[in-house]
Amino acid sequence: MRKPIIAANWKMNKTTCEAVAFFEALLPKISGTCEQVEVVVIPPFTAIAACRPAAGGVGIGAQNMHPEPSGAFTGEISASMLLDLGVSYVVLGHSERRAFFGESDHFINQKLKRALASGLTPILCVGETLEQRDAGEVAAVLDRQISGCLADVEPSALPKVVIAYEPVWAIGTGRTASPAQAQEAHSLIRTKLSMLFTKEAAEQVRIQYGGSVKPGNARELLACPDIDGALVGGASLAADDFAAIVLAAG
Ligand code: PEP
Repeated sequence: MRKPIIAANWKMNKTTCEAVAFFEALLPKISGTCEQVEVVVIPPFTAIAACRPAAGGVGIGAQNMHPEPSGAFTGEISASMLLDLGVSYVVLGHSERRAFFGESDHFINQKLKRALASGLTPILCVGETLEQRDAGEVAAVLDRQISGCLADVEPSALPKVVIAYEPVWAIGTGRTASPAQAQEAHSLIRTKLSMLFTKEAAEQVRIQYGGSVKPGNARELLACPDIDGALVGGASLAADDFAAIVLAAG
C-alpha cells in the first residue's frame, strides 16, 4: 500500500513571514490527516529555516541542490546544507529548471544519486511538452527521462525515490491532464521502472501527478490506481486550497 504524498512547490514565492503565516493557517485544517497522507512543503531556500519550526508534522523540501558536496559553485546549495536546515526532500529535474537552466538528465542523475546517498528523498520530475505529446512521443520521452535520471540507482534504493509526472503543457497553464491521460502516463512510468529495476521495487514507488492540480480536480486524479499524490504549484500558495487538496488524498 503506497502512502499518498502531497507536496507544495512554492517556486519563487513567499517571504519568511508569509511562509510562517501559511503554516499557522494550514496546520489546523489538516490535523487529522497526518497518518494517511504525507504532506510536504517546498519553500524557496530563503524561507526554509523559518518554515522548519513552524511546520509541525509537515515535511520540508528544497527546490534544487548541487551534486557536489562542497566547493567553488557560486550560488549553489549542497545536500549537507539542506540536511543542516532540517530538509528531508529535494525536487530534482523540474521542467522549469530543465527549460530555463538547461538541466540535462545526466546532471539530474548526478544530483539524484547524491540526494539518495545523503538520505534526502528525491522528488524527480518528468514529463513531456505539448509538442512531444502531439507528435506521439510521450512514451519515448518518459523512457528517456526515467532511464537517464535513474541510471546507476540500485533497485533497493528505488522505493525511496518519488516521481512526479508533470506534463509541461499542464504546469501553471490551468490546463490539467485528464485522469485518463495522467493514469496512462503513470502506468507507463511504473512499467518502465519494473523493466529497469524489479516489479517489487516499481510497485513501491510513489508517482505524483503535477500540473494545475486544484481543489476541484484533485479527488478524481488521486482516485486513479497509479496516482499516488500530487505536486502542486499555484494552488499550494493559499493554505485553504492546499489543505483541500491534502484532504482529498486522505
Ligand atoms: C509545478 O510547478 O510543479 C506545478 C505543478 O505547478 P502548477 O500546479 O501551478 O501547475
